[in-house]
Formats: sequence, structure tokens, C-alpha cells
Amino acid sequence: MRNIASADLLLIQSLSTETLSFFSGGGGILRGDKLEALSDWPPAYDALHTCLNNPLWEPNCSDCYKDALTMVELYALGKLERFSRVFAVDCFEKTLDQKLGVLLFSKHSLLCADALKRYEDRGFVISGRARAYAAYFARRAAMKMSGEEGETDET
Ligand SMILES: [Zn+2]
Repeated sequence: MRNIASADLLLIQSLSTETLSFFSGGGGILRGDKLEALSDWPPAYDALHTCLNNPLWEPNCSDCYKDALTMVELYALGKLERFSRVFAVDCFEKTLDQKLGVLLFSKHSLLCADALKRYEDRGFVISGRARAYAAYFARRAAMKMSGEEGETDET
């Protein structure tokens, strides 16, 4: 399990003792709304860690699904530059279509669907190239599931 959010309630119970209790908060607030609030909180500019590939003590990889999701949302808010110390912001625009392709491919996820909606609601357009990336990721996933992993991705 790489994303432990779904186990939050179990973990909180497990970590609590007779003298120490943890509470989970914000369950009724959408991730995009939390991120928007967080984007105005300077301590987050050096500490935000969303990465599924790297542990907390290493920087975000800026390539995984959660980083892509977060970076696209911050970009749509016009606040990605604030997070240049925790994400590879310099090359973001070069990889935007690929990141949007990841989100489009994962749009069955409510998080991705919400991020894409927020992106478009702010007047951004999802390019044909991003849709091509999504189709490529879908084809690659289908090949992997059917056991055709040995084939190249170059077609
Ligand atoms: Zn990452």
C-alpha cells in the first residue's frame, strides 16, 4: 500500500495510547480546497510532500501521480512557483501535457476528476497532446494486464 490515506482511521487508532489521542480532520473538505488553503501557508512551501515514490526525507520526484496531481492543481491556482523548493517547477510546463495525461488516464479517481474540472474551470484547456498521452498510458496498461509487457512502447 503506497497511499495510506484509506487506512487513516485504523492508523490513528493504532497510534493512540491511554494518554495520547489522535483525531482525523478535514474528511468533509475536498482535496482541491485543502490544497488551495495550503497554497497560502508559507511553511508548506518548504515542507509539502505528496510523493508516492520517495520517502518523506527525500524530495518529491515530481513525476508520480500524486505529485502530478498536486502540481497541476497548484499551477491552475497560479501558485506553483511558491513550491519551487519541493517540486521540479522549472521543467513543469515541458511536462504539463504528460502530467495531464496521467490525470486523464486516472480520471476514474475522484481526486483526478476534481483536479481536471478545477483546471478547466480556471480557463485552462486540456490539449490534444495530453489526451494522446492518456491514450498511450491506457494502451500501455492494457498491454501490461494482458501480459504483453515485453513489447516496446515505441509504436
Ligand atoms: Zn513523486
